[in-house]
Amino acid sequence: MNYETVIGLEVHVQMDLNTKAFCGCAIEFARPANTQVCPVCLGLPGVLPVLNEKFLQYAMRVALALNCTVANFLKFDRKHYYYPDLPKNYQISQYDKPLASGGYLQIKTEAGQKKIRVLRVHMEEDAGKLIHTKEASLVDLNRTGTPLLEIVTHPDINSAVEAYEYLTQLKSILEYLEVSDCDMEKGSLRCDANISLRPKGQLSLGTKAEVKNMNSFKGVRDALNYEIIRQEKTLIEGGKIMQETRLWNEEKQKTCSMRGKEEAHDYRYIPDPDLVPFVIEKEAIEKARGELPELPQAKKERLIKDYSLSGYDAGVLSADKHMAIYFEDAAQSYKQAKIICNWLMGDIMSYLNTNNIPIKKIKEVLPTEKLVAMLELIDNNTISGKIAKQVLPEMIETGKDALVIIEERNLSQISDSATIESVIAEVIYENETVVKEVKSGKDKALMFLVGQVMKKTRGKANPRIVNSLIKKKLEV
Ligand SMILES: [Zn+2]
Repeated sequence: MNYETVIGLEVHVQMDLNTKAFCGCAIEFARPANTQVCPVCLGLPGVLPVLNEKFLQYAMRVALALNCTVANFLKFDRKHYYYPDLPKNYQISQYDKPLASGGYLQIKTEAGQKKIRVLRVHMEEDAGKLIHTKEASLVDLNRTGTPLLEIVTHPDINSAVEAYEYLTQLKSILEYLEVSDCDMEKGSLRCDANISLRPKGQLSLGTKAEVKNMNSFKGVRDALNYEIIRQEKTLIEGGKIMQETRLWNEEKQKTCSMRGKEEAHDYRYIPDPDLVPFVIEKEAIEKARGELPELPQAKKERLIKDYSLSGYDAGVLSADKHMAIYFEDAAQSYKQAKIICNWLMGDIMSYLNTNNIPIKKIKEVLPTEKLVAMLELIDNNTISGKIAKQVLPEMIETGKDALVIIEERNLSQISDSATIESVIAEVIYENETVVKEVKSGKDKALMFLVGQVMKKTRGKANPRIVNSLIKKKLEV
């Protein structure tokens, strides 16, 4: 039997705010344990939470960018469960009235664009952290109360690749919005996946498993691919899929059952009486909408239009905000946009990747003026493109201008014909047979001679001038 995979994703995004969701405690990563806490986030009796206004603004920004309708009513609920990292024994979250719902995000698939519907976006607070040592389990409550957004999709995703693409797009949007650093390793972005299989053509959903504990997009993709095979095998062998939570084990590359899945009623949700519901004014929503930056998809379309780039080039550039800004900055002063694009997506990106330099640092390590100056040196024949490829890494490493490096290393292109002519004479003398072939009209033979001259000048001769001088000399 043929099975169809059905996946829904729940993504938790930590908002990049200075203070916590309902108290004034600072949020900083990797601080000494329990130094960023107060009576509110410790859940001591008699204290009252106050909503961080910026949290709501950030949340609205994300909801609107995901094409959601923002509710006109904000209400918080208590989600009860008992765990040592949760001092109040409940988490402030949103239950029946999420901040926003009914949105979508476009992803690319082999069959074209596909809309993944966003079921809901809601606000909540994070729990603390448990650290297990040989002797004991320790509790660090620095993270308790950190503002989180939960973004839940409909089960519209049909493969691990689509899930990966969704996460990539979502991350790109969140980075454009400047609401989160989206660092999965630090836990700023966490993803759980609900996955089930059903016979092709069947409308009702199969029993799902919830997969947790993936710490990278690749981890999500691998875990889902593993689950697809596991569930398919179980079904083909006549077994039953259990509704349960499974943990991804990165080392063993498999998922393992953690616990039976709890239902919503297990959490005994109640409205939080300490946080009075309030109306979100229409004007506030429209203001947030008006303040949205240009998002990746719109940027891509504009780059195609304004710079005559291909869809592929514009897609790569716009996927990362820093890359897109850098490109447009450079294109302000250097009009051949496609050439900037080629250098960015080629040598510059590969240098950054090999040296583990994040793209957001690109402007620091290679100011656009320096890149443009280098491109102009190619245009005015001071250096060849080949030499420029040697100069670029040194520019990034030392911060020196291209011209300085070229002078220091004597790399400038030889354009004066006297020097080139003497090398040509040498090459003609050494390659009698080839010269005959050139005279009989063989283009390949001519290219060989040009190559020999380039070799003797260590790539510094201007190939166009070499070409025309050889032709003149041999009268072809
Ligand atoms: Zn606090």
